Amino acid sequence: MEEKVTELYGSLVFGDKVMRDKLPKDVYKALRKTIVKGTHLELDVANAVAIAMKEWAVENGVTHFTHWFQPLTGFTAEKHDSFISPTGDGEIIMEFSGKELIKGEPDASSFPSGGIRATFEARGYTAWDPSSPAFIKDKTLYIPTAFCSYTGEALDKKTPLLRSMDALSREAVKLLHIIGNKDVESVITTVGPEQEYFLIDKEDYKKRRDLMFTGRTLIGAPAPKGQEMEDHYFGALRPRVSAFMHELDTELWKVGIPAKTKHNEVAPCQHELAPVFDTTNVAVDHNQLTMELMKKIAEKHNFVCLLHEKPFAGINGSGKHNNWSMSTNTGVNLLDPGKTPGESTQFLLVLAAVIKAVDEYADMLRLSVASAGNDHRLGANEAPPAIISIFLGDELTAVIDAIEKDSFFKKGESVLMETGAAVIPHFARDTTDRNRTSPFAFTGNKFEFRSLGSSASVATPNIVLNTAVADAMAQFTKQLEAVPAEQLEDAIHQLIKATIIKHKRVIFNGNGYTDAWVEEAEKRGLYNLKSTPEVLPRLLDQKNVELFTKHGIYTEKEIKSRYEILLENYTKTIHIEACTLREMMYHDFMPAVNKFMDDLSQQIIRKKTVCESLPVGAQQKMLATISEKYELLCEAVSVLEANIEKAEACEDELSKAKFYHDPVFTDMLKIREYADFIEKYIPDEDLPYPTYSKILFYV
Ligand code: ADP
Ligand code: MG
Repeated sequence: MEEKVTELYGSLVFGDKVMRDKLPKDVYKALRKTIVKGTHLELDVANAVAIAMKEWAVENGVTHFTHWFQPLTGFTAEKHDSFISPTGDGEIIMEFSGKELIKGEPDASSFPSGGIRATFEARGYTAWDPSSPAFIKDKTLYIPTAFCSYTGEALDKKTPLLRSMDALSREAVKLLHIIGNKDVESVITTVGPEQEYFLIDKEDYKKRRDLMFTGRTLIGAPAPKGQEMEDHYFGALRPRVSAFMHELDTELWKVGIPAKTKHNEVAPCQHELAPVFDTTNVAVDHNQLTMELMKKIAEKHNFVCLLHEKPFAGINGSGKHNNWSMSTNTGVNLLDPGKTPGESTQFLLVLAAVIKAVDEYADMLRLSVASAGNDHRLGANEAPPAIISIFLGDELTAVIDAIEKDSFFKKGESVLMETGAAVIPHFARDTTDRNRTSPFAFTGNKFEFRSLGSSASVATPNIVLNTAVADAMAQFTKQLEAVPAEQLEDAIHQLIKATIIKHKRVIFNGNGYTDAWVEEAEKRGLYNLKSTPEVLPRLLDQKNVELFTKHGIYTEKEIKSRYEILLENYTKTIHIEACTLREMMYHDFMPAVNKFMDDLSQQIIRKKTVCESLPVGAQQKMLATISEKYELLCEAVSVLEANIEKAEACEDELSKAKFYHDPVFTDMLKIREYADFIEKYIPDEDLPYPTYSKILFYV
């Protein structure tokens, strides 16, 4: 079995081994140089690569190729072309050129551009990204590409991500050179995203309009049991789920995704998958592909995979933990504190840069995870709060304190754990405990950004993180570059100290779920940006525009377009949800309630006909209770209808988004409150859709 997996792994990837086998030596070298150092690739090299790629693909049964890209919809896009080329005599040959590999020209008019391009200007280009390997899926060769407009503006998530990785590498190398680490030529950022998801029965899914149209349930009374027994977390996998996970792992391994960890999550029907970390660009592509394969393979097992941030009210939603670090080309993890963090100048300087970056651009980090779906989680005491803060743990906090107070810090002895059971070997305890409530936690040799939503691409949070840290490093470089060598050590120490003093307000090791923290954070002047419409306008703040333009991540035009798209996306999401809820009320819920009330009334009448003196108080009481709430429900639905119209009539996108947040979204909550109350009384067979109990406990 072991051998099989090692053979299977990456078998559908045009990876290093295939390249070495298939490419002429000089072509291989040129391509490697492009991949590792980001150098320009000549057309003749591309031609040779294209031939080898096609040959390898055709050997594997492939007939088509596609430029695979990540438009601002948040999903991936693809357009397939076959390799066939008629030879004029009724025959064909399979052909693929360097030009086709490098550049594609999909009609871009239907992808969001946020006003960058009018619809009649349809031209857009996709450009090959050699740093993310091509792979085979469904008999098609997938070529990861960037996507831009005719005038060169980025219309995707990959382009700015690659720009941000370059910026970080550039600034990190400059800083490392100044502090004497002259061997370093480049720095990569690494990411390991842990992905949460729900698996529910396909039959149940198909019966619920809300799940079909919005990915989440808009109404639904809680099941008698939720997650309070904590029996699902890490629980034994049910056979059907296990079979799904097994097939998923196998398919992921084939396309070179190092799926590593899988387990049941806190909520019933919720699970998690984590791969081994990779370069950010590859990790982002792989996460997109993972989500796609999860959905596809779920279907095969008669499941539907829900990636929405909050599919069910009352139990945990899903997120993504973005484990992030930086690594030099000489193989050093810049966030590895080593044995004596207090003595490692390089580690402390890099740590200070991250602290400064997170404090100065906390609003952008919050923005990078903002969506209608994720608004349900942040601040709801299941995911980190909307306030961005950093958890450092006891040991690093002691180091930081010591620096601030100029006192000497010595690392404590590592504590040996004894479990009390003789058969269990003793093991050394980690120097940091876990803190579930922190949005940005140091976890030994990396930071874990935990506010991400489960359905979104992890590109944007990493763009912000890379850029903000690059900026902090650039500022450090500026302060240190003119310092004479003999004063350098002292200057670095002073710089670290000053940075800590200035930015320590963002460090918080306590419980982020308490009201006390909300108050404390306000006193410290930290942002608490609760909803998407509240956070989005910050993208246009001068400090943020300057950050992105200065480092060449976005042009001003690109920033404006992204702002427009994010607003529109929020508005459209709530609009669809509101319309779905209205439809569900009129088509499913209200008829069911009416029928039940009618049945109840008939029963009362019939009872009376049988015998005038039979008691009907209980039925009448129930009828009254339901009728009363039903009146309120109908009223609330009318209000919602009117407000949807008002929202659509709003002049500008920001007021529209705000109007959808309040009152439209608030109206929906009100309706839900009444509906969930009534649903408790309605028999299952009268409801045209499955309840929470059925969905969450009968898989
Ligand atoms: P936990 O649930 O304890 O947070 P997991 O093992 O589920 O841990 O996930 C940790 C993730 O962090 C994995 O994807 C792992 O590969 C990743 N990781 C480890 N080291 C680094 C690093 N230097 N840079 C980025 N990610 C890392
Ligand atoms: Mg984790």
